[in-house]
Amino acid sequence: MASSPPSLGCLPVELLTQLGSYLCPHCAGRPSYDSQGQESLSRLTRICRRLRDILQPFVFHSFTHIGEAPPRLLSFLYAIAARPELAQAVTTIAVSQPQAGTEFTDHDRRLLEQYLACLRLPYPPTNWPVNEYKRNSILEIIVFYCQRLETLDFVTLYHLNSYQNPLHHASFTRLRGPSMPTSFGLGVQSYLEYDILAPVLGAARTLKSLALPTITGFKPGNGVRLPVMRSLRVLNFRASLPALSFVQALLAHCTQLQKFTLHLRLQVNQERDRSWTVLDAFAALLYVKDTLQELTFEASLDTPFGELNQGCISTLTQFKQLRSLKVNGRCLRALSQSWTLNSGTADMSLFATQLLPPTITNLTIWDPHASLIPALFSFAREKVSGQYPHLTTVLVAASPTSRIWMPRSDWAEHRDQLEEEFEKAGVTISLNLPNAFP
Ligand SMILES: [Zn+2]
Repeated sequence: MASSPPSLGCLPVELLTQLGSYLCPHCAGRPSYDSQGQESLSRLTRICRRLRDILQPFVFHSFTHIGEAPPRLLSFLYAIAARPELAQAVTTIAVSQPQAGTEFTDHDRRLLEQYLACLRLPYPPTNWPVNEYKRNSILEIIVFYCQRLETLDFVTLYHLNSYQNPLHHASFTRLRGPSMPTSFGLGVQSYLEYDILAPVLGAARTLKSLALPTITGFKPGNGVRLPVMRSLRVLNFRASLPALSFVQALLAHCTQLQKFTLHLRLQVNQERDRSWTVLDAFAALLYVKDTLQELTFEASLDTPFGELNQGCISTLTQFKQLRSLKVNGRCLRALSQSWTLNSGTADMSLFATQLLPPTITNLTIWDPHASLIPALFSFAREKVSGQYPHLTTVLVAASPTSRIWMPRSDWAEHRDQLEEEFEKAGVTISLNLPNAFP
């Protein structure tokens, strides 16, 4: 009896699973908008039922909707709404900014309304035109269905110059760290309209980590209501230029934030937001003072300190869980001036003793002014006397984003003595001085 000819469908399940993870952009760690592997997967699922059953979840691991009309977004929604196991398979969604598309049929409209009713999401207005609002609503429902979604990428096709990467991302990552290819270090800035972000913030109730480019078009008040973000642990603005009002509003709605990052800096061709001051930024961070563990904040050299008065923030001791602090000299100078006003003394060693909570383990200071040298000696002494019991490392270096620090010769002159004092205190200090004076 002749055996049936060998075919792909006869391969052991382990081999087919391996093939699935090899072709799947998500499993192979390729960008989600790389759709070639997915097309191959999709073709394989049409060969036979066995291949379909094994490989179809891989097809749904990542969904890409870039530069296409809205109907495919609807087809995807219908597929995952009808097959909850496929909705569970979705880990990555990449979508581009809305484009005008064809009209929906009445059938589409009725189904969509049913979904909205089931999920108790607000109805779009009757007779909606094809507009951004409707498209965002579909996206909102998709995000709702995909309970295991790890990453939502907004891809903006944004042509600045031909030699720059035209793809920019805003990623909303749930289970993993931010995973977007960023414009960081390329000198390219990306933007996202707040209207595009808003539905996602509203829908992603389990969002843990949020990394954003510059958000434009946020107008506080005006009926804008941010959701309370109970799951958000990580908020990363990278080297962007968010409006202070947007940062304040987001922080006011975070109840569990552990990690905040912002390298505020003036971008090429961009006016600095005149509302920013260093002390206002620290004051906004007080919203998360009970939960924040890692704070990275770098203010550009032209950021004003802020209005100094008796009530303004002058130490970080209120941040009761703070373990890691990475700030630049500009931030510490603003705090020290405020502290001088509030305490009535300009003694930098006293400032150091009252700057941080006892939970601190790592301190990084970028581009510090030489006036902070006495404060550093004071840190070492305080550690010996038991005030900062958990402090283990101190790093003094040039900012990773600005690279403009020209340290005064005082730093090189005090290097040996600082290292000695910190060694006595059981703390590793690294003084990475660029252009160190001989
Ligand atoms: Zn995969």
